[in-house]
Amino acid sequence: MSRVSLKTLMEHALEQKYAVGYFESWNLESAIAVVRAAENVKSPVIIGVCGTYIGEPMRKYKESLTVYQAMLSQIAKEAKVPVALLLNESDDEEMVIQAAENGFDMVMYAPVFATEEVPFDELTKIQKRIVEKAHKNGTAVEGEVGELPLYNSATGKLHEGEDTDPELCAEFVKETGIDTVAVSVGNCHLKEDGMVTINYDALKILAERIDIPLVLHGGTSIAREDLGKAAAMGVAKVNFGTGMKRAVLNTVKKYLAEHEIDQMDPNDVLGRGGEKDLLVLEQEAVISYVEETIRAMNGENKAF
Ligand SMILES: [Zn+2]
Repeated sequence: MSRVSLKTLMEHALEQKYAVGYFESWNLESAIAVVRAAENVKSPVIIGVCGTYIGEPMRKYKESLTVYQAMLSQIAKEAKVPVALLLNESDDEEMVIQAAENGFDMVMYAPVFATEEVPFDELTKIQKRIVEKAHKNGTAVEGEVGELPLYNSATGKLHEGEDTDPELCAEFVKETGIDTVAVSVGNCHLKEDGMVTINYDALKILAERIDIPLVLHGGTSIAREDLGKAAAMGVAKVNFGTGMKRAVLNTVKKYLAEHEIDQMDPNDVLGRGGEKDLLVLEQEAVISYVEETIRAMNGENKAF
């Protein structure tokens, strides 16, 4: 088993009371490392990229989503565990539809980092259009109701969020036909400390009221023990990104401090794949992060 639908993954997770991790990659090595980790602990996994980052207008070089998609789908095809592909959080409707029509298993339209808020009615309309087109291709759609607080680790500033209102969430799910819904219950985007307080009362109400799988973004902000608890309460998917990148950066920092780079053969540092290859060490940093996280979500040995 390698490539699976999101529906199959989510149903299995809810039934077996674990959460599937979405581990957001940014290049070939990070994507391969995620799957390697999932294989090591025999867990299903979701791989993908961030639509907002890929489509970022400030990006120095324009990226091709098709290239990422080809890379991710080949990695999924060769995987020994169930894998699904997600285009996460794009604020570009056209990009989301393109991804849905070209073979991602799930897409998500979300103006997460937008400076201006998209009004609820407008968001509903956009989401309906996306769902209609995506479902024709058998692609699932994730939506979001409420807003996660957004932390900036460079400035230490926190942009306030908005907790998910259960009634509004139920209405949005019914109106749009989305397949999974991201909720805001204390979790925080881009925060690294794993110290947020999850509002379990709010999560319980949402789990009872909403009849599609619940998703928590900002996985890096959530304590390990909370991940397992949330999974047992009906959270079927948790998103991670920032923590993986920090793990890689810590590795690079340590490497540069411990090695005389100028005295080394550049081929040993990049691309030869040996013990001193920085790319190998980066992959190993991602692998341990992903393995630990999967275990925390009770995902170990859940591959089917
Ligand atoms: Zn997110």
